Amino acid sequence: MSTASLLSPEILAKYQPVIGLEVHVQLLTETKAFCGCANKYGAPPNTHVCPVCLGLPGALPVLNKQAVEFAVLASKAINCRINETSIFSRKNYFYPDLPKGYQISQFDKPLAEHGYMDVPDADGNTKRIGITRLHMEEDAGKSVHDGHADSATRTSIDLNRCGTPLCEIVSEPDLRSADEVFEYLTKLKEILLYTGVSDCNMEEGSLRCDANVSVMLKGAKEFGTKAEVKNVNSFRYIRSAVEYEIERQIEIIESGGRVVQESRLWNSAESRTFSMRSKEQAHDYRYFPEPDLPALIVGNAWQTEILKAMPELPEARRARMIAEYGLAEQDAATLTATQAFADRFETAAKAAKSPKRVASILLSEITMRLRAANLEDDQSPVTLDGVVLAANLAESGEISSKQLKQLLDACFAEGKDFAFVYERDKPQQISDTAAIEKMIDEVIAANPKQVEQYKGGKTTVSAFFVGQVMRLSKGQANPTLLNELVIKKLNS
Ligand SMILES: [Zn+2]
Repeated sequence: MSTASLLSPEILAKYQPVIGLEVHVQLLTETKAFCGCANKYGAPPNTHVCPVCLGLPGALPVLNKQAVEFAVLASKAINCRINETSIFSRKNYFYPDLPKGYQISQFDKPLAEHGYMDVPDADGNTKRIGITRLHMEEDAGKSVHDGHADSATRTSIDLNRCGTPLCEIVSEPDLRSADEVFEYLTKLKEILLYTGVSDCNMEEGSLRCDANVSVMLKGAKEFGTKAEVKNVNSFRYIRSAVEYEIERQIEIIESGGRVVQESRLWNSAESRTFSMRSKEQAHDYRYFPEPDLPALIVGNAWQTEILKAMPELPEARRARMIAEYGLAEQDAATLTATQAFADRFETAAKAAKSPKRVASILLSEITMRLRAANLEDDQSPVTLDGVVLAANLAESGEISSKQLKQLLDACFAEGKDFAFVYERDKPQQISDTAAIEKMIDEVIAANPKQVEQYKGGKTTVSAFFVGQVMRLSKGQANPTLLNELVIKKLNS
């Protein structure tokens, strides 16, 4: 980062960053917000358009009921209060990707207000971040600057995105660092994915984030002048952009200058923000109530109906899974990262003898092999039944951990399920007491020093003998039996 090296930690420590976020989320409705056009990403340009979303004279918008239901679900998931009456307004501005000349949005009477999310902070505690409002609006089209033969001299317009239903979620300026921004966004995305209202795909623009960043001297009463960092397309970049922006502003103030209120864009290639001419600065939006739409009324009865679709949210699910299956907090967090993964785990955990064993096999053995093979969670050759079988065999000691690893390696190498590979390669397991005792005697005879240590009270040395015998048996000794016999022999 170009400015970062110029500022000493002492100077940085004098300032308090203040950050608020505006997140736009595309809703996964079948059709657009105010017309019957398909709400679908990736179609050939200008094929999902009609007089309404093109804003042709005389066309009238009709609000999409599913969009309202999704917006209400999202609002409640982030603890907002729903306003029974909300109003759609016209936000007027001129831009090539907005043929109507205005965007239908909500202004002074949004759908929902006064929410919050609790996010992890630097000290390992949680911090409550206020959510000012969630309002509904429609997306604009897209200017296409590349990908065409004449792109060097012309900009093309794709209006498929016009009228896509959006939620805009505005936070209070409660965030104090780039890391908190990252945590907030991660959590928000997780919650929205659980509710199923959006796919939150940042590459396709389903989730977009603007950050309002300012700095002030610690202890100051008034916030500094803010700059808005717009349209950063990954959480990692947002963290870098906010970090950069904080340092840029501190540097300006330290050198006697003043921060200008403006919109800035993040350039990930150069790792810096730069000023853009902003439509916000040039215009006021002349909001007025949309005359073609009545007030949106979401009464208690409808709210209750909508909330029937509210799933168990990630935090609640984690807490329940920790209590129900005795999982460690970190394991529960990983298992609930997506709904699909948590579902997979719970299906297997309920069928297996030991949920903890299932967690460990899924989180370490399976995940490691999926990553190495570049596969998604749902592309594992080992089915849930396979995981359950593996967990039960490992739990009962019928296969050793080394054998488990070998069997799973074979599953992934051949693309076969665990039951098939296990039946075929059924590892030879030595469960013959006499045979194991013979090997133990051999190892004990070869390691008098360790025997002495054990007799001297260092009982953890028994693990050494177990390991040696296991090696001698080429991993085939029944581990439960082996453990028992080693202790017995050492104590005799
Ligand atoms: Zn349309």
